[in-house]
Amino acid sequence: MITLPGSLATTQQYVRRWADDLRAGALELDRDPDAIHRYLDLPAVRFLAGHEVPPDWDRAGPEAGSGPAHGLATLERVLVSEELARGDAGMMLASPGASMCGVLLSVLGSQEQRDWVYGILAERPRWTCFALTEPERGSAIGEMTSTLTPTGDGSYVLDGEKRYVGNAARADVGAVFARVAGTERLGVLAVLVDTSDPGFRAEPLPTVGLRGVQLTRITLDSVHVPAERVLGAHLPATRRGMWSIVAVFNQLRPSVAAIALGIARAAHEYVAEHRGRLRGAERDLHEALGQRIDAARQLTYRAALAVDARPSAGHLASAAKARACELAEEVTLAAPGFFGPGARVDHPLLDKLARDARGVEFMEGTRTIQKLNLFQGLHTGKVGRN
Ligand SMILES: Cc1cc2nc3c(=O)[nH]c(=O)nc-3n(C[C@H](O)[C@H](O)[C@H](O)COP(=O)(O)OP(=O)(O)OC[C@H]3O[C@@H](n4cnc5c(N)ncnc54)[C@H](O)[C@@H]3O)c2cc1C
Repeated sequence: MITLPGSLATTQQYVRRWADDLRAGALELDRDPDAIHRYLDLPAVRFLAGHEVPPDWDRAGPEAGSGPAHGLATLERVLVSEELARGDAGMMLASPGASMCGVLLSVLGSQEQRDWVYGILAERPRWTCFALTEPERGSAIGEMTSTLTPTGDGSYVLDGEKRYVGNAARADVGAVFARVAGTERLGVLAVLVDTSDPGFRAEPLPTVGLRGVQLTRITLDSVHVPAERVLGAHLPATRRGMWSIVAVFNQLRPSVAAIALGIARAAHEYVAEHRGRLRGAERDLHEALGQRIDAARQLTYRAALAVDARPSAGHLASAAKARACELAEEVTLAAPGFFGPGARVDHPLLDKLARDARGVEFMEGTRTIQKLNLFQGLHTGKVGRN
């Protein structure tokens, strides 16, 4: 059993308190993703945007770009993600801020690049996006077809198409992954893009789950990328390519597991709150689901601690992501059963939670991909069997 360090108790208290505000906007945002603009003053949203730092927040993050919304250790991000997603995962993911871009910057960004991005975010609530997935290739980094063509002076021209990218139509800054033209499968770089630059176009897509995050199709048509926007160029060659990209995904994955746990908890707590005292088989089922949520949280904490100790240790993160997403689907599909026929119509939040649980399954790679990753870890002995 992993007990959270005392310093994280303050974090947990704050975010728990803020989560209920997110719930208040959940269904409105689900109907209209633009509603996020009406919630920018909520403490949770200001916190995610990097504009609210509680004065007694106990944290150590002296390096540039650190702060509650960015530069969090994986375990802390897991805790924040679960609590806020329990409030509403859609509102959390729709909030402005550094988000996934912040994790990328913490691994691959130079001081100047962090200053550039955080300088933009400091002005007012602004969004970032993280563009990896492609229409025909999914998120397989090695198969990426978006290209960066060198211009000879350290700059590049970026072309391609991205799909299912959260918040891109609202973003001022994007991190885009692409392959350097003429290189092999692993010649992938991440670059920062100013979304107002010519050639960058983002259009929202119709979606069913986690609608607040407003998934987007991006077209990149000869976007100029100056040399100073290429991430990792200041790092040794061994640290700037695939290694760093894998480290970024390893750090993000436990947070996605935590979002799934937050969704599962929201449905589980909704049943307890709206059904009152349960008896017999119903009580047994509800208790069993609660115990499984607690067990999946322990696995997620272990995964986060493993990644914080060694950024390449991502196999448990895959296990946690797969387990938490499976459970989120199971709990959100079981919850309407406690209310009888028509429950998803009579309890719109339960309907939304079931759709959101399906959505989180795809974020950061599906269960199949996570299981493949875990099996590789088991096969190579990088992860223990206990
Ligand atoms: C809410 C949400 C937010 C997202 N945000 C972003 C974002 O901000 N940026 C971004 O770039 N992307 C984002 N995505 C996209 C997400 O990362 C992809 O949907 C995900 O990685 C899966 O890729 P895909 O949809 O192309 O499916 P595919 O990878 O094509 O998979 C389709 C199916 O085939 C299975 N499959 C694939 N490969 C194998 C294999 N080798 N063996 C067995 N089965 C396999 C999968 O399990 C799945 O069932 C988001 C998606 C969602 C739903």
